[in-house]
Amino acid sequence: MSESRTAARPVIAIAGLGIESSTFSPARTEAPAFQPLRGADVFDRYPFLALGEELREAADWHGALVGKSLPGGMVTAAAWSALTGELIDRLAALPRLDGLWYDIHGAMTVEGVEDAEAVLLERIRATVGPDVTVSTSMDLHGNVSRELAHRSDLITCYRMAPHEDHMETKERAVRNLVDLLASGAPRPVKAWVPVPVLLAGEQTSTRIEPARSVYAAVDEVEAMDGVTDAAIWVGYAWADEPRNRAAVVVTGPDRNAVSSGAERLARGFWEARHDFGFVAPTGTFDDLLDEALRSQHRPYFISDTGDNPTAGGAGDVTWGLTRLLERPEFQKDDGPTVLYASVPGPAAVDTAVAAGVGATVTVTAGAEVDDRHAGPVTLTGVVHAIRHGDRDAETEVVVRVGSVYAILTRLRKPYHHEHDFSDLDLDPRSADVVIVKIGYLEPELFDMAAAWKMALTPGGVDQDLVRLGHHRIRRPMFPFDPDMADPDLTARIIPASDQPLTGDDE
Ligand SMILES: [Zn+2]
Repeated sequence: MSESRTAARPVIAIAGLGIESSTFSPARTEAPAFQPLRGADVFDRYPFLALGEELREAADWHGALVGKSLPGGMVTAAAWSALTGELIDRLAALPRLDGLWYDIHGAMTVEGVEDAEAVLLERIRATVGPDVTVSTSMDLHGNVSRELAHRSDLITCYRMAPHEDHMETKERAVRNLVDLLASGAPRPVKAWVPVPVLLAGEQTSTRIEPARSVYAAVDEVEAMDGVTDAAIWVGYAWADEPRNRAAVVVTGPDRNAVSSGAERLARGFWEARHDFGFVAPTGTFDDLLDEALRSQHRPYFISDTGDNPTAGGAGDVTWGLTRLLERPEFQKDDGPTVLYASVPGPAAVDTAVAAGVGATVTVTAGAEVDDRHAGPVTLTGVVHAIRHGDRDAETEVVVRVGSVYAILTRLRKPYHHEHDFSDLDLDPRSADVVIVKIGYLEPELFDMAAAWKMALTPGGVDQDLVRLGHHRIRRPMFPFDPDMADPDLTARIIPASDQPLTGDDE
């Protein structure tokens, strides 16, 4: 590489913390849950920044600190202090920066901190200086406050739920940043429109209407002259802050184009609000078990949605497994095969590991964090499988009780892939019923399911939003105020990050 080329390469840092954390769960998230990567290890997370890749060669990159946690309960004040303190120290030690990629989720709630990602970005800007160009990439279940939009120069999010485009989105955020720095163009104009709608992720899958069409318009807006990027955030329903709502941001050099594009997307979302249904038919847990038993479809999948750990549930609610084990149909070994994923129970896992595969054990698991709906569940059954070394669960065991195969873990883990089951000597394809703590099925399970329904079960991410009890979100808000008048959906032009933000949030 020539001397001049090297000198021209922009210096860009990577930093961010990602989690979606429910304020309706008693769980708390500590610093190790973020599994932080530091320095050059940060690149391991992003294939498009591997050595030799075009974007890697286009800049002089510096990993500061990037942490990403499974969804969970609120982040403790101590975890926040430790992680952000280290992140800032690492940024302060870097050479002078031209750009910063802020890789976040956008639904982090922290004890004692409001609008955490905007607060952290303010501290980052105070450290790296106002001239640094910041590109923010987010989950579409994040929230975009006016402050977060202000402190970012480019900001975007996923366009698919499930998030099959998550890496593509991050790459786009990086490419837009690199291109902007290379062009020497002024900071983009940002058109922001808050949309007073708060919906569960399970009502907004882009696999089906109306979200499919609402999100299809994003590509059309992005293709307009004068637009760099366009994004729609559904927002995060299981936290109770004023920022929780849907939002649109369109960025680019042309003020008229970004404004009209943002208004078009915001109108599309608002006008579809009555059409967002659940992504699969819903029912009570017991009704769906009855239906699964009657059905010819195998495997029959049921989502145990209220404690979905990938939305922020504690993951250790025992309500579903307790009900399942009470059902007479599954108490004999030759009953219909049911796989249940999962309940954490470290002591139960230790007991099963000590006893070994084939042994009969009596173990108690769950409800250490969230015991509001059912107490710990006690099972007597045969140890079917033991597996060590999982990134999330650490150790997993399967205990068979009658015809139920209950997966117990040391730490909570989402079950999204076929190998999550086959690694435990379970075959979901030949099971009669598969019950997973999840909302919408991830692609591999979705493709495998001959039938699928969502059970509206209790937990920290209860899908029945109106019964959860929000107090601090802005009102009116759909569907909390179903007959509300049409809101103001005109684009608000957010001042550039180096200009003051005045006025209020509406
Ligand atoms: Zn998401």
